[in-house]
Amino acid sequence: MKENEGKMISIIVPCYNEEEALPYFYDEITKVLSSLKEDYEVILVNDGSKDKTLQEMKALCEKDKHMIYLSFSRNFGKESAMYAGLCNARGDYVGFIDADLQHPPVLLKEMLEALKTGEYDCAACRRVDRKGDSKIRTWFARKFYKVINLISDAQMVDGAGDYRLMSRDMADAIISMSEYNRFSKGIFSWVGFKTYWIDYENVERVAGTTSWSFWGLVKYAVDGIVNFSNAPLDLASFTGLVTTAFAFIYLIFIIIKYALFGDPVQGWATLICVILLMGGMQLFALGIIGQYIGKTYMEVKNRPHFIVSETNKKDPEKIR
Ligand code: UDP
Ligand code: MG
Repeated sequence: MKENEGKMISIIVPCYNEEEALPYFYDEITKVLSSLKEDYEVILVNDGSKDKTLQEMKALCEKDKHMIYLSFSRNFGKESAMYAGLCNARGDYVGFIDADLQHPPVLLKEMLEALKTGEYDCAACRRVDRKGDSKIRTWFARKFYKVINLISDAQMVDGAGDYRLMSRDMADAIISMSEYNRFSKGIFSWVGFKTYWIDYENVERVAGTTSWSFWGLVKYAVDGIVNFSNAPLDLASFTGLVTTAFAFIYLIFIIIKYALFGDPVQGWATLICVILLMGGMQLFALGIIGQYIGKTYMEVKNRPHFIVSETNKKDPEKIR
């Protein structure tokens, strides 16, 4: 028996409004996967699409037994879709790929080769350029990676997306991280394991439009920082400490000045500035704490990450 016979690959595809892209995607992924020795399954996760994505998925599943679909009761977000796929994947190798063909399926071959050497637990793709992205978006992205790598306990690689293939061990490690606030870039790096990097050039979407707005990305960046670092909390304490020290020194200065020169009434401007500055800083610190409390609140509620309303899988992992 050949070494890899009997092994299986699971490919997870989060889909939100991808009716136009899906047929192209199906052709491409099938071409690649059917050329491999291993058995495979493609798990299409319909993340509450508003178009005909679900019908498209059902049609594909009808004609091809390798295809599995899970359909959410509403839009839960890409992170939840990825998690749902992961919980339902049966493969010895488990991968994520976008439905819009921005992740070239042919690279899966190279990823699989890397994993089969046994040297790596993960093979991931890294964009070497940001062609197609605006200059300002690129600039912010670069700054984000600088900041997060400075303050977080998980190192994140610039340009690394979710396109990757993992060993069963790594997939299980990620499943065990059942946090509600999911930030995959951080999770991938937090679980560790040896990663084989493949560089590729950015490709434009085959059809449809991206679901990311600029503010959506900013929120995503803040999430990443709050989820993987306590540095903002340290910053709040540190700023408080410095301000207190400064106020103390200033107090001594005022007392000495009063003792030496008496008290001519003045300093209204100083007072207003100090009050405003203090008020501002306090609100800012409260906001930072609020971010963490909000996240903690969502975690302790322990809600399911997703709700599957329809699927063709027998006894699916419906909740977490
Ligand atoms: N996606 C999803 N749920 C969402 C938004 C996006 O499952 O709420 C999927 C989408 O269908 C695609 C992948 O996530 O397969 C990446 O999304 P998109 O192409 O919009 O992001 P970009 O490539 O621009 O980062
Ligand atoms: Mg895309």
